[in-house]
Amino acid sequence: MRLILLGPPGAGKGTQATRLVDKCGIPQISTGEILRAAVREGTPLGKSAKDFMDAGKLVPDSVVIGIIEERVKAADCAPGFMLDGFPRTVPQADALKDVLAKMGLKIDHVVSIEVPNEELVIRLTGRRMCKGCGAGYHVKFDPPKSAGVCDKCGGALFQRDDDKEETIRARLKVYEDQTAPLIAYYRQAGLLRPIEGMGGMGDIFGRIVGVLNG
Ligand code: AMP
Repeated sequence: MRLILLGPPGAGKGTQATRLVDKCGIPQISTGEILRAAVREGTPLGKSAKDFMDAGKLVPDSVVIGIIEERVKAADCAPGFMLDGFPRTVPQADALKDVLAKMGLKIDHVVSIEVPNEELVIRLTGRRMCKGCGAGYHVKFDPPKSAGVCDKCGGALFQRDDDKEETIRARLKVYEDQTAPLIAYYRQAGLLRPIEGMGGMGDIFGRIVGVLNG
């Protein structure tokens, strides 16, 4: 099964993708994670992406398309994959279609997680991540046992630069302008599976599984 998880920043794509990986046994491909790792490692890719990411802007299409093109050809993607955070523009969606068509493949479902903007700002400003193992927390909805310390590895928790309120507003605007048009794009292609993204993580997961099985 080849899936796309679509939704604004803070909709819970990453969390749901992790659960789906366990259930479906297909890899999660997160362009945001790949880019953050490149920034941490100081690679040429990371250096070229960092300024865009810190400003809440999209990294150029050519860069992310290149990443995806290489990644979907890897052996672990043979049974399928789940794209989280890609595509984010219509040219990216077109490029994905072409790359897959050349391999004789296509996307099966586009799960679109819908959450109102005010809720997204609350979710994103409270988000914290472990420096050591990358585990995610939320100061209000999913706090660690001891403030600022990871339950899993004892690492220090930090706030992603792009989770600061000003950058969040910029990211939401970018989503509205550049990514939301993909909803109509995939609806037209008959692939869109809209999901109500409010409520508990388990409830949302149940809705996604229902749609995929349905
Ligand atoms: P995310 O973790 O998916 O919210 O991504 C974090 C940041 O990485 C975004 O704000 C963009 O700067 C960059 N990024 C991730 N995926 C893409 C993409 N498909 N196209 C362009 N930029 C991306």
